[in-house]
Amino acid sequence: SLPNSVDTALRQRAARVVPGGMWGHLNAARLPEGYPQFFARSEGCHLWDVDGNEYVDLMCSWGPIVLGHHHPKVEAAVRRQATAGSCMNGPGAVMVELAEKLVATVAHADWAMFQKNGGDATTSCVTIARAGTRRRKVLAARGSYHGSAPWCSPSLVGVTAEDRAHIVHFDYNDIASLEAAADQAEGDLAAIIVAAFRHDLARDQELPTPEFAARVRAICDATGAALILDDVRAGFRIHAGGSWEPLGVRPDLSSWSKAIANGHPLAAVTGNDRFREAAASVFVTGSFWCEASSMAASLATLEAMEEEGAIARMTAMGQRLRDGLAGLAADNGIGLRQTGPVQMPMVLFDDDPDFVRGELFCATAIRHGAYLHPRHNMFLSAAHTAADIDRVLAAAAAGFAAVRQAG
Ligand code: PMP
Repeated sequence: SLPNSVDTALRQRAARVVPGGMWGHLNAARLPEGYPQFFARSEGCHLWDVDGNEYVDLMCSWGPIVLGHHHPKVEAAVRRQATAGSCMNGPGAVMVELAEKLVATVAHADWAMFQKNGGDATTSCVTIARAGTRRRKVLAARGSYHGSAPWCSPSLVGVTAEDRAHIVHFDYNDIASLEAAADQAEGDLAAIIVAAFRHDLARDQELPTPEFAARVRAICDATGAALILDDVRAGFRIHAGGSWEPLGVRPDLSSWSKAIANGHPLAAVTGNDRFREAAASVFVTGSFWCEASSMAASLATLEAMEEEGAIARMTAMGQRLRDGLAGLAADNGIGLRQTGPVQMPMVLFDDDPDFVRGELFCATAIRHGAYLHPRHNMFLSAAHTAADIDRVLAAAAAGFAAVRQAG
């Protein structure tokens, strides 16, 4: 049988009963030839597709897996909570413990509340900011992803102009455009929402400049608007206290998800005392928002990350990957751009507007057992070892050779 016959058969069945076979960005049709759609198993930083092919994983489930799949301490906490009770008429005691942990860990946080997905958290932040300020306008960077809800979806299909009526765009790291957007919202500015750094699809990543971050804070201070830091993607990979801590700029509200519970479904909003009353006044809820097992997972994840020095380990392995890729690219005479924090790498080829080289590189690497992404930032976890990175580099060497041969 072919190396992907089980996957192919599942895709054919899915095409009949799931719209498009798979929705959104996880549709494997958006990836190069040879990427599986369906997975069977995962362990540490390794992943097996339904045909039994094994990969070293550089996507980490698009962010959530931060300690590696099946981290023993996290899974034990989940089992304990699940055995006692998880979906009940209200939260378990673990909700309070987790809120206490976040308030102790996240620098700006005086309180926390919980949801399921990153988009729940960003949307809740916007609602809380509007409730707290009694204003409507929200400034967001053009191209920044904050979720798939109508107010922020990158697609306008099925979205009305009214859904976007009070969103004003600026360009990330561009102070003049930020000030112009703030002027446009004049007197009605509820919030500025910013990603932890510029991690837009298919372009070089950019860290926020200290001047930009300071200006965002200053405009919020001058107008009374909320600074919302969307830490859904970068949260707990850059700094446990919040991704803008190294810049010395604190948000009023932060959205979290992805890495917060090592793969278990959870999101959180943290906020300061200025927005406590507003947060208590809005109506936000979901059938599974107080599910206790994921909160137990989160508490164990945050503890294990500290114990294991997870951020330092991801950074070291991310640097090993970056150095290795840079060396291989140079050996092959190939121009490569590696941008953003090393623990969240974006790897793009020079002179590759249609991602032809990037796709050939990734299609080759996946045949050699490394699951990379040609256009999206990737993610390291604390489970990646030097041996894993070296396996990725061996697969990447084959990828660079293919790109060089293709010319
Ligand atoms: N904000 C950011 C910065 C994200 O990266 C994402 C998810 N990629 C979201 C919000 C939305 O999260 P979710 O897909 O869990 O709703």
